[in-house]
Amino acid sequence: MDKEFGKIIMKCLRKSLPLVLTATLAGCVTSTQLEVEAGHVFDQMRAEMPLSNSLADRSYVKCVTRAIINQLEEPYASYDWDIELFDEEKINAFAMAGGKMGIFSGLLEVTENQDQLASVIGHEIAHVTRKHTLKKANQTIITQRAVAIGASATGASANATNVAATIAQLGLLLPYSRGHESEADVVGLKYMAAAGFDPRASVTLWTNMSKAGSGGPPEILSTHPSDQTRISKLAGQLTATLPLYNQAQAAGRTPNCRH
Ligand SMILES: [Zn+2]
Repeated sequence: MDKEFGKIIMKCLRKSLPLVLTATLAGCVTSTQLEVEAGHVFDQMRAEMPLSNSLADRSYVKCVTRAIINQLEEPYASYDWDIELFDEEKINAFAMAGGKMGIFSGLLEVTENQDQLASVIGHEIAHVTRKHTLKKANQTIITQRAVAIGASATGASANATNVAATIAQLGLLLPYSRGHESEADVVGLKYMAAAGFDPRASVTLWTNMSKAGSGGPPEILSTHPSDQTRISKLAGQLTATLPLYNQAQAAGRTPNCRH
């Protein structure tokens, strides 16, 4: 995540600090508290970051997302899902608690087809349904409390510490654990396949991504290390997920999102 983006998030978070601080003092944030905060932050990001003005690209992203969400079971199907396409050259995507997701337009340059885009969106949706955002937030609070205690002992600015803690709580700037990444890969593949997107595209996409282009490695690789282990694990899931894809196709779930 670049500095400018980080600054916007800092600004957004300051506005919603009191509620999160209350949550911190109470011990840990609940799912509902985190979802409310994520919603505020997402609204602010939308207001302050440039959005893609390509109607075709926007509807493409929404179409792929909708196709996947339509196949989710409850309670996930009833989440307040929302996705925004930010006009940002970086190749990245993110998800927040409660189903707020962002795609950077740079990602559309490297995803060669709707199946590859679906592999990223399915993965992000899985981070939300598996509550990785909440787990990471609460794990991080323990660390941040130790930092805050250390900071007050040394007389450091409490406010600065709290803002940093808040960012960490929302889990926006830190990568997920390898365990969460693997789980999101496995679950995300099932989601995309059930929606009728070819899961084999995920292996192609991450293999392409791992070959650094002239501009260096895509930013998404800083949070999604696409080494051989990860790609092999993805490929190992295909036997289990291809039948889901075939069933979806047979049932008429044949999304056609790129026009
Ligand atoms: Zn991930």
